[in-house]
Amino acid sequence: MSRLQYERPLIQRISSGIMNKFGTKTEYAPVSHIDGIAVKELIEQYGSPLFVISEKTMRDTYKEANRAFKTRYPKVQFAWSYKTNYINAVCNVFHQEGSWAEVVSGFEYQKALGNGVPGNKIIFNGPDKTDADLISAIKNNSPIHIDHLDELYRLSELAEELKMRPNVAIRVNMDTGIYPMWDRFGFNYENGQAWDAINKIILGDKLEFIGLHSHIGTFMLSPSAYAIAANKLADLALGIKKKFGKSIQYIDMGGGFASKNTLKGAYLPGADTSPGFDVFAEAICTALLNAGFVEKDLPMLVLETGRAMIDEAGFLLGSVIANKRLSDGRRSTIMDFGVNILFTSFWYDHKISPAQDFSTYTEDTVMYGPLCMNIDVVRDHITLPPLKKGDHVVVHTVGAYNMTQWMQFIAMRPAVVMLGVDGKSHLIRKIETIDNITQNEVMPAYLKSFKL
Ligand SMILES: *Cc1c(COP(=O)(O)O)cnc(C)c1O
Repeated sequence: MSRLQYERPLIQRISSGIMNKFGTKTEYAPVSHIDGIAVKELIEQYGSPLFVISEKTMRDTYKEANRAFKTRYPKVQFAWSYKTNYINAVCNVFHQEGSWAEVVSGFEYQKALGNGVPGNKIIFNGPDKTDADLISAIKNNSPIHIDHLDELYRLSELAEELKMRPNVAIRVNMDTGIYPMWDRFGFNYENGQAWDAINKIILGDKLEFIGLHSHIGTFMLSPSAYAIAANKLADLALGIKKKFGKSIQYIDMGGGFASKNTLKGAYLPGADTSPGFDVFAEAICTALLNAGFVEKDLPMLVLETGRAMIDEAGFLLGSVIANKRLSDGRRSTIMDFGVNILFTSFWYDHKISPAQDFSTYTEDTVMYGPLCMNIDVVRDHITLPPLKKGDHVVVHTVGAYNMTQWMQFIAMRPAVVMLGVDGKSHLIRKIETIDNITQNEVMPAYLKSFKL
């Protein structure tokens, strides 16, 4: 009798179009209007591709997040994470809702000041603050979140020179059970670095210690990690009270809540699996309320939610340039937008809907961008009806990071439009022109001319 032949196991990624136990993904209903405004008209008016932001969704999301925390904790303050989307009109919607600003660079700090945010409501994070940045933050009375000891020492020197007492917090990193740990920012909790910084600040007596900060990761799907972080920060705050008799003003839990996007390779759509604000709020608020603060010492809870606050409000409208068959017979569709403006397509399977009616026939399709680069893939598998040249699509959940991380590579960046709660569309960032790009170039005189 012959032995059965060994076959090596094979692991294959699930891709859309293939059945899983929930059936096929059916994410291809047409989306012809956003907030009552026709996609076709928006593209006619502002060009394609085009970023669109729904003001209503932004405000609704803010209210939902605020309600989730305010119903569970008495003192809550949101601070808008500028790097998630720093178009001024976007920032101002959140400021109108009551959000402070959270910035991570001198450039963002200037933007927040320019938008009219009072200095004491601009939280200054990040590892790279120049002397000029620090001086400006001290003079404007902004909470400065110290990232490393070199910054702590420099800040103490500047405080002496300016004869001012800056308001500071420290960023703390810690083991929350999520790996790899984000331990490159701030001072570590477990190994005593955080206490070292606290002692140096309070005993040094040049800086006013007002808060504790952490930002444990991004696109976090695990509320329990926040409960652990909140417990560790509360432990530091209670320790400071015990050792120095000093109460801090706030505990800042940073950002990082997952949006409703779908990570590449995920089994189920993010819309079904991302924990909502209520779940994160429950984890954080319960941990703080049960930590052992006496009522008057209960710190204000600051949240720097970025991604989960804006992602769903953002859409990218685009048009089909061409279709072709790949050598293996698969259909491929080339769009007028690629990874240059949709950076997040590197790690999300963005939901993409045709913007016009279509037949019931669908096919597994590769969606490419227009760049002359092999990596310019918007979706490597998507079940779509056949789209013709000139047809439009709507890419969903693109409000976070794309309008700050986009690059000007071989093409201009598109316009951004806000669909207002007034039912009208408002241009909030113009399409770039060749002059925008070349105005910063300098041509040495001897290179001005040539003969071919
Ligand atoms: C990026 C960042 C945020 C926002 O993070 P999201 O994941 O977008 O919520 C908040 N705080 C700090 C310090 C950050 O660097």
